[in-house]
Amino acid sequence: MPTTTELADRIRAGGRVSAGEALHLYHHAPLPLLGELADGIRARKHPEGVVTYIIDRNVNYTNVCVARCNFCAFYRPVGSSEGYVLGFEEVFSKIDETIALGGGQLLLQGGHNPDLPIEWYEDLFRGVKQRYPGFKLHALSPPEVIHLTRMSKLSVTEVIDRLMAAGLDSIPGGGAEILVDRVRKLLNCYGKATADEWLGVMRDAHLKGLRTTATMMYGHVETVEERIEHMIRLREVQEETGGFTAFITWSYQPEHTELGGGEATGMEYLRMLALARIVLDNFPSLQASWVTQGGKVGQLSLAYGSNDMGSVMIEENVVRAAGAEYCMDEVEIVRNIENAGFVAKRRNMHYDILGDPYFRMQDVPRQLALATARADGDTSRPAELVNYAARSTTEKKLRATDQHGQ
Ligand code: SF4
Repeated sequence: MPTTTELADRIRAGGRVSAGEALHLYHHAPLPLLGELADGIRARKHPEGVVTYIIDRNVNYTNVCVARCNFCAFYRPVGSSEGYVLGFEEVFSKIDETIALGGGQLLLQGGHNPDLPIEWYEDLFRGVKQRYPGFKLHALSPPEVIHLTRMSKLSVTEVIDRLMAAGLDSIPGGGAEILVDRVRKLLNCYGKATADEWLGVMRDAHLKGLRTTATMMYGHVETVEERIEHMIRLREVQEETGGFTAFITWSYQPEHTELGGGEATGMEYLRMLALARIVLDNFPSLQASWVTQGGKVGQLSLAYGSNDMGSVMIEENVVRAAGAEYCMDEVEIVRNIENAGFVAKRRNMHYDILGDPYFRMQDVPRQLALATARADGDTSRPAELVNYAARSTTEKKLRATDQHGQ
């Protein structure tokens, strides 16, 4: 095994590290050294001194989910009085609000709801594109795509083709957690997608020309070796396809989850982030996860390998359910970027620069709290749901009762 100094010299010269060498760095390299190496890679890849962000909105179209991952505080089982599905008109209103804040995209993800067949997604996507032709849909993480293959009896490529024909623009890298099946079994997320299935969806999407992101949620039941295995598997797919735009990592948020436990610290986050910048040498961008780590650690991320502050989000439901409630609007994100010594630029999902901060060109309202999927106590059911075949007994019974009552 090379020494830490030899590895550092190799990394400074643009060389690659193996899984074993990454593990050595995790255990033996001081955090400032990892930060210096990661910052050097960031500076080589982004020498212009720009840090980007995107104005988009995180919309969770349903919280009803049959997957029941034990680290998730967001989902509700089928039939729960707290379960919801957004109506198409609700989604359109959220898009109107996003456009008013300078946004051009939804990050659209949700639970594995057995009563939403692929036609529901197609109609929603087509409806969005008809009303807002230039608006982008960064939608449905690999496990949601797999869920649709099971519901529709179609292959992954057929599902992606149909979603693309309806308006899908790119795929978010959610649901990766740790791409090692031992860990996925312990998190009860092996059933929603195995490591190979998750990577397979991304490979297929890339081969069809879609760009995607990749994520990693660490700090629960995995070992450090397994975090590194996760990153190496992503690096291998990226070698094949070049389709990943960015990597985002965050620590497991334990509140209100079945799994419970504690949360990894800020130093651990910066160590993982810097290590990811070193290992994922073929990923163009690394995002800071301020929504889980808070604005201050989010800003520090810019010295540990990140070149992007992610999204202003506008709305957030998943991380909030697990106890983290940070909010940064565009003004605050730009303040953090500029205070760290970088030039702040808006981007799209492909990381094309769109321009200077929007709030400097247009008057936009300050956003002091992230919105939620729905107002508290709103239990309304979208009228269009009856147009789509129900699969769950609960939903079938509910519809029979509704009809009886009419
Ligand atoms: S993480 Fe996603 S798939 Fe897992 S239970 Fe939560 S909503 Fe369902």
